[in-house]
Amino acid sequence: MGRVVKIFFELFFSGHSPIRLFLTRITQLIVRIEAKNPIQLFGLILFTFFIQSKLLACSPGSFHADGNKNKKAIALTFDDGPGEWTLKILDLLDHYQVKATFFMNGDQVELRPELAKEVLKRGHEIGDHTYSHINFYTYERKFGLEKTKLKVKEEIQKSRDLIVQATGKSPEICRMPHGYHRSWMKEIGKEFKLCLVNWTFGKDWLKISEDRLLKEYLQNIKPGAILLFHDGGRHREKTLNLLPLIIEEAKKRNFSIVTIHQILEP
Ligand SMILES: [Zn+2]
Repeated sequence: MGRVVKIFFELFFSGHSPIRLFLTRITQLIVRIEAKNPIQLFGLILFTFFIQSKLLACSPGSFHADGNKNKKAIALTFDDGPGEWTLKILDLLDHYQVKATFFMNGDQVELRPELAKEVLKRGHEIGDHTYSHINFYTYERKFGLEKTKLKVKEEIQKSRDLIVQATGKSPEICRMPHGYHRSWMKEIGKEFKLCLVNWTFGKDWLKISEDRLLKEYLQNIKPGAILLFHDGGRHREKTLNLLPLIIEEAKKRNFSIVTIHQILEP
C-alpha cells in the first residue's frame, strides 16, 4: 500500500496536467465507492480538495494549458509585445473593463519600457515570454539538451531583468515561445519562481479568414479556457477586430473574463 501511495504522489507531482487530472478523477471515484461513514467521507473529501488545489494552483514549476474548468471564466492572453498594437488593445480592454495577461518578450520591453509599465498600470498581469523568442524545439535539435537548458535560463533571466527594470515588478508566470515544454522545465520554473502557462486555444497569427477565426474562438469560450492572441508583431488588425466580438459574446453567455492567476485559482 505504501508503495502505491508513493507512486501516486510521484506521478501526481510530475507536473503533467493530464496525469494529475486522471488521478484526481480516480480519487473522486474512490470517495464515492469507499467512504463508509461520515468521518471517512469528510477525510476523503478534504483529500480530494487538496489534490484539486494542487492541480490548479499557479505555483513555481507547475505547468498549465487550461484554467479551472469548474469556473465559468475565460482568460485573454496577449503574446510577443509590447508592440505597435498594444496601446489599441489596452484601450479596448479598458472600454470593456476587462483585465488580461500579457506575455512579453524582453527585446520588446527594451524597445518600449513605458508601454510595459502602462500595461501594469492599467491593472493587467505581465508574464515572461523570454528575451528573443527563440524556437527551442529547433534549438534543442541543433544544439542538444544541455545547451538548450542554459539558453532557456539565459533568455528567461534577461527578459525578467528588463521587465523588472521597466515595471518594478518581477513576473510570476512564464509562457515559452511556441509553447515549448519539457519535463525538466519544472525545475527551471522552480528556480525562477515561475508558473508555466500555455494555452487552450489560439490561432490569430495564422493566415485564415476573420470569419473562420471568429467562429473558432467563439467555439472555444468554455469554462477555464485560456485564449491566446498577439499584441506584438505586425498586422494585428484581425485580432483587434475579433476582440470586441469575443468579449461581447463571452459576456452575453455570462462568462467572466479574468487574468491567468485568477483562472488558475482552485
Ligand atoms: Zn510568442
